[in-house]
Amino acid sequence: MRKLRYGAACLALSVSSLTSAQQAGPPKPPRPPETVPSLREVKSVIVCGDCDKPFDTSTHKQVMDGLLSNKYIGELRKALYWQDSAHQFESKAHYDNCDFDGATSYVDSLLAEIDGHVIAAKAAKEKGDGAAAEARVVKAFFALGQALHGVQDFYAHTNYVEMSVGAAKKSTDIEVVMPWKRSGKDRIKELVGNGLVSGFVVWGLPQHCAKGVASHEDMAKDKETTTSGKVRVAHLQNRSRYQIAAQLAREASQELVDDAFRRWPLLKEINGQHVAFEVLVDRRGL
Ligand SMILES: [Zn+2]
Repeated sequence: MRKLRYGAACLALSVSSLTSAQQAGPPKPPRPPETVPSLREVKSVIVCGDCDKPFDTSTHKQVMDGLLSNKYIGELRKALYWQDSAHQFESKAHYDNCDFDGATSYVDSLLAEIDGHVIAAKAAKEKGDGAAAEARVVKAFFALGQALHGVQDFYAHTNYVEMSVGAAKKSTDIEVVMPWKRSGKDRIKELVGNGLVSGFVVWGLPQHCAKGVASHEDMAKDKETTTSGKVRVAHLQNRSRYQIAAQLAREASQELVDDAFRRWPLLKEINGQHVAFEVLVDRRGL
């Protein structure tokens, strides 16, 4: 009896420093490395930003060679990985824990950051300070990479794919939701009303999911091998949910790059029209 009381006291003490959600969770995964693999080693896509015609794949090698040493693309890709390291447990950076408002506002704040950098870059350029202008454009591309990460995660970390496949005759019928646009924000609100949720991450904050929502591990579609990612959708050419999530994430990314180059032509002017990036980077170990 005495022993039991002692055990209970110990337990009470040890849980006092944890939130109730974290008590039952798995061990906290370590912070992933920030190292960015070479563009040659990864599966990346190349898009033509705000172009009349899509990327001409016949020039792939030539374009890729140029992008390998492009510092703006380097910065954008660095940001894709940085989000998993520096913001590993922030729900808003990954559309986790049903933090839809937080994640969408976060994308907005990153676009506002780009705007500030572009204004400063233009001012520097007018003063003839090309180096200062370039430095600001580098920062703008970093913020664009951070925004791309969040936008892509919408498709991998929510049940949007699961909710959408039923009505689609082919995967390209599925609407591309663009959280940085007014229409996208409205659509997400509507979807939340119809049952849109994102995976529960025990270590992530804030947590806005109702009790019983599936875990991130069960919902994530970042890879072909995850529980949900490997599920095949028979009537959509037997494509996996991962493939569908990646297709939507890629389309949304192209739209975001297009919009960014339209809104801030200086980014396209200084970087060039081509942008290369990974789709669905995930190193958080969750
Ligand atoms: Zn993420």
